Amino acid sequence: MDIGTIVKVSGPLVMAENMGHASIQDICYVGDMGVIGEIIEMRGTVASIQVYEETSGIGPGEPVRSTGEALSVELAPGIIAQMFDGIQRPLDVLEKQTQTPFLGRGVSLPALDHEKKWDFVPTVKIGEEVETGDILGTVQETKVINHKIMVPIGVKGTVKAIHQGAYTIDEVIAVVETEKEDKEITMLQRWPVRRARPVKEKNNPDVPMITGQRVIDTFFPVTKGGAAAVPGPFGAGKTVVQHQIAKWSDVDLVVYVGCGERGNEMTDVMNEFPELIDPNTGESLMERTVLIANTSNMPVAAREASIYTGITIAEYFRDMGYSVAIMADSTSRWAEALREMSGRLEEMPGDEGYPAYLGSRLAEYYERAGRVITLGKDRREGSITAISAVSPSGGDISEPVTQNTLRVVKVFWGLDSILAQQRHFPSIDWLKSYSLYLIEVGAYLDQQLQVDWSGLVTEAMRILQKESELNEIVRLVGIDSLSAKDQLTLETAKQIREDYLQQNAFDDVDTFTSREKQYHMLKTIVLFHEEGQKAIELGAHLPEVMRGTVLLRDRIARMKYVAEEKIEQIIELEASIHATMKDILQQGGM
Ligand code: ADP
Ligand code: MG
Repeated sequence: MDIGTIVKVSGPLVMAENMGHASIQDICYVGDMGVIGEIIEMRGTVASIQVYEETSGIGPGEPVRSTGEALSVELAPGIIAQMFDGIQRPLDVLEKQTQTPFLGRGVSLPALDHEKKWDFVPTVKIGEEVETGDILGTVQETKVINHKIMVPIGVKGTVKAIHQGAYTIDEVIAVVETEKEDKEITMLQRWPVRRARPVKEKNNPDVPMITGQRVIDTFFPVTKGGAAAVPGPFGAGKTVVQHQIAKWSDVDLVVYVGCGERGNEMTDVMNEFPELIDPNTGESLMERTVLIANTSNMPVAAREASIYTGITIAEYFRDMGYSVAIMADSTSRWAEALREMSGRLEEMPGDEGYPAYLGSRLAEYYERAGRVITLGKDRREGSITAISAVSPSGGDISEPVTQNTLRVVKVFWGLDSILAQQRHFPSIDWLKSYSLYLIEVGAYLDQQLQVDWSGLVTEAMRILQKESELNEIVRLVGIDSLSAKDQLTLETAKQIREDYLQQNAFDDVDTFTSREKQYHMLKTIVLFHEEGQKAIELGAHLPEVMRGTVLLRDRIARMKYVAEEKIEQIIELEASIHATMKDILQQGGM
């Protein structure tokens, strides 16, 4: 094997000469210790290597060996419920053994368990014609994920052998006779993380991903296959939003990438998720979760790789026909890793020191999200929804990472520090945020639920916008200058904000709201508004309406704590509203 020689070490960047045999993107073993790195630039025979482990103690003169292979992940049964680092080394296994979250340097660990036997159940017979993406058989990986073993990319031919039974991921489970040769197929595939896995078609993502978070599902929905960003200053609630979506979304699988943020947040997920029950399957959330951790205490370069490792795993499960959501917390920390490497390479800095290719790298990442028809004859549909936190320093969203992200995602959940200070959570600013999927999702839900959902949403948003206009007037000339109807509008807006948009992630019931419950909650508030306005038009005085509806408004405020099974209690409110308003009018003699 050709061996290069280190000439310079600068933090996570190592330069080595005599590397003419290697090429860009090759994975190398660097130094006597053999730490893992990736060539990110070649100048003549000098390679610049981004090293995924600590480089202290490594120096000039030490050897560099290229593997000739790109940074790849192992794809096979055994991925789910694991925690990996940014280059797919199994952290939880090691953490259990060593009681520390750090891997020894130069330890090359296989990503997956190669000893474990999985029960493989064939779905094809000898003599069948198969092509790339076709399912050869399945393995029940967890209680909720049936892992499809697919014909690897580039393989097409006739099934010559297929084996049922318990096999490791390295053992042959099928033989496909192709034009050239007999191809032995195992359950293990490898895929280079920087290349998107191919699909047959991309479709418009118009089916909502229900997150159980009212402000999101109602006002700023994301679709299965869509992309959303959560920018916000420190402490505004980005991580809680990401955790909530990871917990409650109606997707088949979640890949959670903890990227440059605090390690204890990943530990929290590790501790909490196994205990939580997925409302969609009734099983533990861990049965559908993959964790990737490259937290702030871990080497910076692997942070750059972590989002690619994550999305490649997401693509693999999408190819099986699953809906997948990938969270990245935070892409700002990822961009900082990019900036650090670019600086050390002495590239020409762009905006705020970020490399000029920041925007194209972000766009490439989000491009890998989408709703697709997968390869394979049966035209499965799968999707990847990409949701990322962005943490602009000081919350200033005019900075390059936020701006480049907003250029490619269609949903913007802007977190506001004032709302967070007022403990209005999630602190998603309802006037500044947007979802370009709103109309499609509205049409879809109207049809699905057979109700006028989109009409309710429009009306609720109109009331909130009206509130902001009225607040301007109140600031200038005082509340008394407002008509009774406008004053009631302020009251309804307050209900929407406090009783609907505010949602406590830490309350057992409030943490998740089904779309049926969201519909009835919103309907109740809007009905209260309409009936109240009507009563005033018919002559009722505002103080009478307010006095007469104290109990009613209290029940509206408690709707969020009504368990899903007791949704009838919310539905009953509609009749109470009609009855109460009628009483008020009668008592007033109108
Ligand atoms: P960020 O990631 O933006 O720095 P976090 O997500 O860690 O912020 O949130 C900071 C704190 O705000 C949380 O620890 C929690 O106390 C509070 N918080 C955020 N969102 C919610 C929520 N939906 N319900 C209740 N508390 C919340
Ligand atoms: Mg955070």
